[in-house]
Amino acid sequence: MDVMCHSVEVETPTTDPQPMLWSGWGDPAKAVDLPGPVRDLLGKLLGVRAPETPAADLAEVRPPAPALPPPVLDELRAVVGPAHVRCDDEARVRHARGRSTPDLMRLRAGDASGAPDAVLLPGSHDEVLALLRICAERRVAVVPFGGGTSVVGGLTAREEARARFTGLVALDLTRLNRLVAVDTESMTAELEPGLRGPQAEELLARHGLTLGHFPQSFEYATLGGFAAARSSGQASAGYGRFDDLVVGMTVATPRGTLELGRAPKSAAGPDLRQVILGSEGAFGVITSLRLRVRPAPQTRLYEGWRFASFTEGTAALRRLAQDGPLPTVLRLSDETETMVGLAGPEGIGGSASGGGCLVVAGYEGAAEEVPLRRERAAGVLAGLGGTPLGAGPGESWAHGRYSAPYLRDCLLAAGATVETLETAAFWSGLPRLYDAVRLALHGALGSPLVMCHISHVYATGASLYFTVVTAQSGDPLAQWEAAKHAANEAIVAAGGTISHHHGVGRDHRAAYAAEIGELGAEILRGIKERLDPQGVLNPGVLIP
Ligand SMILES: Cc1cc2nc3c(=O)[nH]c(=O)nc-3n(C[C@H](O)[C@H](O)[C@H](O)COP(=O)(O)OP(=O)(O)OC[C@H]3O[C@@H](n4cnc5c(N)ncnc54)[C@H](O)[C@@H]3O)c2cc1C
Repeated sequence: MDVMCHSVEVETPTTDPQPMLWSGWGDPAKAVDLPGPVRDLLGKLLGVRAPETPAADLAEVRPPAPALPPPVLDELRAVVGPAHVRCDDEARVRHARGRSTPDLMRLRAGDASGAPDAVLLPGSHDEVLALLRICAERRVAVVPFGGGTSVVGGLTAREEARARFTGLVALDLTRLNRLVAVDTESMTAELEPGLRGPQAEELLARHGLTLGHFPQSFEYATLGGFAAARSSGQASAGYGRFDDLVVGMTVATPRGTLELGRAPKSAAGPDLRQVILGSEGAFGVITSLRLRVRPAPQTRLYEGWRFASFTEGTAALRRLAQDGPLPTVLRLSDETETMVGLAGPEGIGGSASGGGCLVVAGYEGAAEEVPLRRERAAGVLAGLGGTPLGAGPGESWAHGRYSAPYLRDCLLAAGATVETLETAAFWSGLPRLYDAVRLALHGALGSPLVMCHISHVYATGASLYFTVVTAQSGDPLAQWEAAKHAANEAIVAAGGTISHHHGVGRDHRAAYAAEIGELGAEILRGIKERLDPQGVLNPGVLIP
């Protein structure tokens, strides 16, 4: 790729990626227990009861017998070397699923039926290309695997593989972990897709730079996954969504290589980068990314505000999004979420409680600029009825910004189902969407706890992020499916998008079909047919 680069020394991170808790979230050392009083409260309020069967042990879980013919496995081994093909039970189980609530329920029950026959770890673009050619020729389904944090069923092609292919492999991109180049004049960097969030930030920090992309899954998700699923980080108001950061890409497909993005903007036809962004591994494997970078902020400042109602808070966020100045982080919890205190990182019962609705506003940037922007934004928030709560709630949000997912594991263990879902709409349609999703979840689940926050804002609209907690029924997977179906239908009917940042995967495919219509679906099928004629790439995701 012909890019002007001011640093061409290839660099790798100092830390190796640690494996995630195999049937839950994150670092096993950070697992938390549900405090006794919270467990009692959940029992009293929601009827939550601890399940009788404990979660399965990794050592006891057996993946299905591998289907991949040994001669094909040998061909694949010849490309990456035997050390980079893993067929052991543990590697297969760890690549069986993503991290949605039903994924975790299945894993906790010891169900590794989604496991691939083998895990391939390519070390270069050319190796990926060669593997894809073999898989297409031998009709082997391939699931590109980044951090494995998909929450939409994006990584489980076992059923499709059984029906239509001779085997299933996971293409783990962890070894593609290099900072290839930095162009400080254009403020772009070329990075490989297997880098996890903290690894990418470590490499860029050496040059005084940042991506500014901090989703809640930051610690485990990878750059390739961010691009393939159109991720959005908690600081998107300041830095933009991940797809805003992508200026170029190299993509390996069964038909060859795509090099995309030779200028910041172009009138040379439709932007093919947009075809790959959000393609969830169904069109090709992203093997390199050219990304916009920013100077690492000198100052970070987070604070809390209280509004009397979600409606008033929403109006204040809209004003900032449309007229500025825009904080770097801007989120508003509804009354329930504020009350429960999930808005604050202390978890249930935290100090964010106290009535009304909590806004967290964060400012990152140059030392002299941040206080000025903060002061002007504070003037807008105060003028629209906000009460300043000082740095406390903002700082504690920042401190605990990655801890909420650990709570999901202990809630599941206690017999509660916890799920999150997200959507977006134009400002004028937001209240209807908010009501519709809440109503659907209540209709499907009886009396769940439903909390919501506005997580990302734009001049024309915003996203809504719901968290729902309910007592597990006798068949929690069927219960989840009914609730998911109801929420998806409500989102479509209320005019929202089926996903603002989690993607489509399998769980949103039907609703996505309704969103784009039959002609839209035909376009996607046509692209798939051209790039992947044998249909081996992540079969079953995205395309209706
Ligand atoms: C606790 C938790 C919190 C989360 N918070 C957020 C959040 O704040 N914001 C947000 O946007 N998302 C969030 N997510 C969702 C998830 O982290 C994102 O979708 C993320 O982009 C996935 O990255 P990954 O590397 O884990 O990809 P994976 O889960 O491994 O893969 C996701 C999809 O992309 C494909 N893929 C992966 N790498 C490549 C590649 N190099 N080329 C082609 N296709 C590829 C896969 O086949 C799959 O379809 C969260 C998930 C969890 C579990």
